Amino acid sequence: MRRVSVLGATGSIGQNTLDLIARRPGDFQVVALTGGHNVENLAEQARRFGAEIAVTAHESRYGALKAALAGSGIEVAAGAGALTEAAARPADWVMSAIVGAAGLAPGLAALGQGATLALANKESLVTAGALIKAEARRHADKGARILPVDSEHSAVFQALTGEDMAAVERIVITASGGAFRDWPLEKLAEATLEQALTHPNWEMGARITIDSASMFNKALEVIETKEFFEVDPEQIEVLIHPQSLVHALVGFRDGALMAHLGAPDMRHAIGYALNWPERAELPVERLDLAAIGGLEFRPPDEARYPALRLAREVMEAGGLAGAVFNAAKEAALDAFMGREIGFLDMARVVEEVLARGVPGLDGATMTLDKVAAADQMGRRAAREIIEAGR
Ligand code: NAD
Ligand code: MG
Repeated sequence: MRRVSVLGATGSIGQNTLDLIARRPGDFQVVALTGGHNVENLAEQARRFGAEIAVTAHESRYGALKAALAGSGIEVAAGAGALTEAAARPADWVMSAIVGAAGLAPGLAALGQGATLALANKESLVTAGALIKAEARRHADKGARILPVDSEHSAVFQALTGEDMAAVERIVITASGGAFRDWPLEKLAEATLEQALTHPNWEMGARITIDSASMFNKALEVIETKEFFEVDPEQIEVLIHPQSLVHALVGFRDGALMAHLGAPDMRHAIGYALNWPERAELPVERLDLAAIGGLEFRPPDEARYPALRLAREVMEAGGLAGAVFNAAKEAALDAFMGREIGFLDMARVVEEVLARGVPGLDGATMTLDKVAAADQMGRRAAREIIEAGR
């Protein structure tokens, strides 16, 4: 029996992970499940999987979670510290599926106890790539390692199996183009929250769905690619592929291009990380390419997607720029979701925050404290800019 924990168990990735675990009774023992406000769902999953401990990120929800698990014998805890402690419980495999920078500290704790960290939380690599990779290396003798779960990165990882990184020329990650890919540019400023919440191909959490429409998700993924595969920014390309069937391609120096195709179902990438290094049967649709007929590609329009240009700036700046970028993006996204700013304002706010830099913080040696300080700086600057524009 493999011991597994799911951080962010009540979310889209968390639920898909539990769906795969439920299909293999007897193979997995669930250690910790964590969630946010939705303690009813968290308690239900904890009972269903016989978890050792259930943790809500919010101390105000402790009582409700405790009541929902009364008589179950399942331990209950609340708060950010409890979440990190739960991630540090011995487990072989830990799914990191919290959304946002809040996923970083629990992910580090999971690596610290020697787990395989299945990393859906791309923000960990964007905000603190050097830190989380160093933690994986430090505990590698105990079995710590990071496996990608983002569909594009899982695809690249699979295309690289048995290959020499020295032979890699470029990595191409695809993007559906999001909800507004076919909208006229001049209409984008009026795009509403409801419109941004519809994704043409994938069913995901609200935040990543909006980030897909603005391409901030792809911007994070470009940085994630640089951090995970340790290639130069110039080697990373983004390609618009409206069907979301080709997830990524790796180009080698002999001209070969290895593409990874599959249905847009996150259970493939989650299942790959769950079963790695083996491939196990997964309940995903098999593609009928003859029925699909053709695959469509086009270059991304940088005028439509300023986030991609900002990602290049962040990679060039290095150090703590990723933490500031992500924090500013999270604050701008909150403001858009709170109907304080418009759709295009998100990129404007983030760009202005990036222009301020990270005064007084040296990112050459990264620590969790410095990343947290840069994160706070980014959020504060974004709020100032948002308030000033009201
Ligand atoms: P979601 O919003 O559906 O779920 C997020 C989970 O995190 C929930 O369990 C929520 O309770 C918890 N959470 C939220 N805020 C928290 C906080 N401050 N502290 C602790 N827990 C908190 O999100 P999702 O779509 O499942 O995405 C999760 C992560 O996976 C994100 O980093 C996202 O970018 C990445 N990802 C998602 C998909 C997808 O298809 N959904 C694909 C690739 C990568
Ligand atoms: Mg992705």
